[in-house]
Amino acid sequence: MSRRILIVEDEAPIREMLSFVMEQHGYQAVEAKDFDSAVSRIAEPYPDMVLLDWMLPGGSGIQLAKKLKSDDFTRNIPIIMLTARGEEEDKIKGLEVGADDYITKPFSPKELMARMRAVFRRVAPTVLDEPLDFDGLKLDPVSHRISVNDNSVDMGPTEFKLLHFFMTHPERVYSREQLLDHVWGTNVYVEDRTVDVHIRRLRKALTEYGFDRLIQTVRGVGYRFSMR
Ligand code: CA
Repeated sequence: MSRRILIVEDEAPIREMLSFVMEQHGYQAVEAKDFDSAVSRIAEPYPDMVLLDWMLPGGSGIQLAKKLKSDDFTRNIPIIMLTARGEEEDKIKGLEVGADDYITKPFSPKELMARMRAVFRRVAPTVLDEPLDFDGLKLDPVSHRISVNDNSVDMGPTEFKLLHFFMTHPERVYSREQLLDHVWGTNVYVEDRTVDVHIRRLRKALTEYGFDRLIQTVRGVGYRFSMR
């Protein structure tokens, strides 16, 4: 599934250039030209990253970043701010409200891709197939192995995919439907209840090491992978 990048930028030439660059690099671009359209595009399926211009018609990038970071569903979506030269104050404010990085206009596509990769590597290592480690629970996407202290943990392919998704999207709540879309794919017909079955199996596989506590039920909403 290609990653969705939401581009929030009111200047059409920059927005179109960014869209083009994203698609060239295998990302799916979603465009928003003002505050309100950005808000309406932050819905299912959620973007995997937001490139956020600071001065927007209808509201500021700061307001939008704050809004994203205050909602459980969107708080872990990485944000890269697009700022104009000399807006030091804005950069500081942006990082304070939870933006992950910023890039100063004008920038080259190469520079932007490097920033994006660095942010993805930090927040969502699936892109790079890097091994994941949460408190000793290790998942290696390449060898398809899960281990705790060098003891291998056995689980089915669906539980593996589910755990991989959770480990790359921690601290975010997902509904059963969202999990189906992300883990099973959108074209597969499976009942919501199937998610519960696999969650139960995943927890069971992790119980021996006490890691089942990481797979949390959020009553009335869905599930969350959390260290807290
Ligand atoms: Ca602007």
